Amino acid sequence: MIYGLPSRCLAFVPMNCDLHCHSTCSDGLLLPGEVARRAAANGVTLLSLTDHDDLQGLPVARAVAGETGMRFVSGVEVSIEWGGLQIHVLGYAFDESDALLRAGLEGICSGRIERAQRMSADLERIGITGAFDGAMRYAANPKLISRAHFARYLVEIGLCRDLHAVFDSYLVPGRPGYVAHRWATLADSLGWILGAGGVAAVAHPGRYRLSRSELRRFLGEFRDLGGQAIEVLSGSHTPEQVETFSRLAKEFDFLASRGSDFHGPGESHVDLGLLPPLPETLKPVWVLF
Ligand code: AMP
Ligand code: MN
Ligand code: MN
Ligand code: MN
Repeated sequence: MIYGLPSRCLAFVPMNCDLHCHSTCSDGLLLPGEVARRAAANGVTLLSLTDHDDLQGLPVARAVAGETGMRFVSGVEVSIEWGGLQIHVLGYAFDESDALLRAGLEGICSGRIERAQRMSADLERIGITGAFDGAMRYAANPKLISRAHFARYLVEIGLCRDLHAVFDSYLVPGRPGYVAHRWATLADSLGWILGAGGVAAVAHPGRYRLSRSELRRFLGEFRDLGGQAIEVLSGSHTPEQVETFSRLAKEFDFLASRGSDFHGPGESHVDLGLLPPLPETLKPVWVLF
């Protein structure tokens, strides 16, 4: 029985899969267990927690998901560099104890603190003081200090109205507070995810400043390296982008994914589980889980 329905009716319980969100283990605002509880309360039936470059939140999120009766699949959002841009690759359903995956993620994180110090020094040059300490106050997991934590500090001191306004004027290439970092390569990220028995998906493809031909080249390389899925529905995609990426998913024969990219209440475009359903013509990535 589920929600009072006899088991022969289970096929009619609608799926609500949210395969992209963050906790305080990276740059989210809620603890991993709080993320899972909120997802269940919003009607999510299959959740993946996908913290940036970190697996710490998975055991608690899975345990809480289990208490609520929601299915859970391991996840991570790996930061890579491709064509001079920072791109995110999602990994799912991998073995969390895999040593190469863990070592790879550790390698990406090392240097984040030094990068944060340099970001703070750069902001100081234009009169913004205390940014390192200010950002660190938002970073429950200091190893994962990120631009999102700096952005919260810049909003806190009244410099910008909200996080999106921060990224219009600061912390991005060519603007104060931007410091490049050595991320993984595309081949690294796929090697780690596939090596740990997982499935890889391109995160929010609409977010990258790639020309059409560059995007196609990227998707081709991703597929050649064993990537299987693309996030078609994302909290940051416009309806036009959903159409574009639905077309590309079919053309490249990718499975399609759906993820809010929820970071916290009041901060994200879309809350957990509240995106529209995937277009029915696409094959969902969760058929694999
Ligand atoms: P980092 O990993 O330190 O480079 O930080 C990247 C994080 O900053 C992303 O995961 C987002 O949470 C946040 N971010 C980057 N660009 C934007 C944007 N335009 N609007 C809102 N948040 C952003
Ligand atoms: Mn983030
Ligand atoms: Mn991302
Ligand atoms: Mn994300």
